[in-house]
Amino acid sequence: MNQLIYPLKYMNISQTYNGKTSHKPHATGSPKDYPIDDTAQDRGQSYFYCPCDEVKITRIYTSGVNTLWIQSTTKVDFADGKTDYMTMQVTHMNDAQMKKLKVGQTFRRKQQMFLEGKDGATANHFHMSVGRGTMKGKGWTQNSSGKWVLTTTNGACKPENAFFIDSSFTTIISSAGLSFKRIGESDSDMTRGYFKVGDENEGVYAYKQLLLVLKKAGTITQTIDDNNKFTEEIKTATKQVQKAAKITQDGYAGPITIRACYTLLEKKINT
Ligand SMILES: [Zn+2]
Repeated sequence: MNQLIYPLKYMNISQTYNGKTSHKPHATGSPKDYPIDDTAQDRGQSYFYCPCDEVKITRIYTSGVNTLWIQSTTKVDFADGKTDYMTMQVTHMNDAQMKKLKVGQTFRRKQQMFLEGKDGATANHFHMSVGRGTMKGKGWTQNSSGKWVLTTTNGACKPENAFFIDSSFTTIISSAGLSFKRIGESDSDMTRGYFKVGDENEGVYAYKQLLLVLKKAGTITQTIDDNNKFTEEIKTATKQVQKAAKITQDGYAGPITIRACYTLLEKKINT
């Protein structure tokens, strides 16, 4: 088993491949790719980690905006169940990072590879595209919309179909509405770091007391029963909280969602 995992410790996607973004022409032109921009933990520079058992650097481009290509050395398991080689294109690392890397260099799973940068951008972030198969041609081509898109032998792939989220490795700050499959969840729902449907414990009880107050305050509409079970109704209530707080609506109650409950309550008290 060689599961492909998201390559950052903090996912904070600032732009996907759909909607009114500069990436839209990537996903609607021909050929297409599905890039995401991720600003990671904060405004500083965070590491990109090797997302599978082993990758090698297949191309380094520094004559325009710094870009590099990596390819898995064996087939990997994609999140949608398919198995294939994986090729990624990553952009915006600064010159200092690029100088540290060599074509043919290999990295092992979860090994630090390089830091974010802002070459050709206004702020530190990674622009990343992922595809199935090996690098095709020079790894990119200008598509019918004039965008430089990733080229692989079996085509570009949407990130949520490619990457699993290893819950013990990656914290999701924002997935920008993309829905990723999680792995590596702790068996104990008290130590996992968030609550979800099926959980039944005193942490859920405390969380539901917060939801009850938010319901009374009119912030959410979902009815909350007074016990320690995380049901589908609680998932709905959690999504209502997340919508009100303008954070990712995934129905999981983790630290960001629980903090959002307090912030929403504080707002009610102060008005
Ligand atoms: Zn981008």
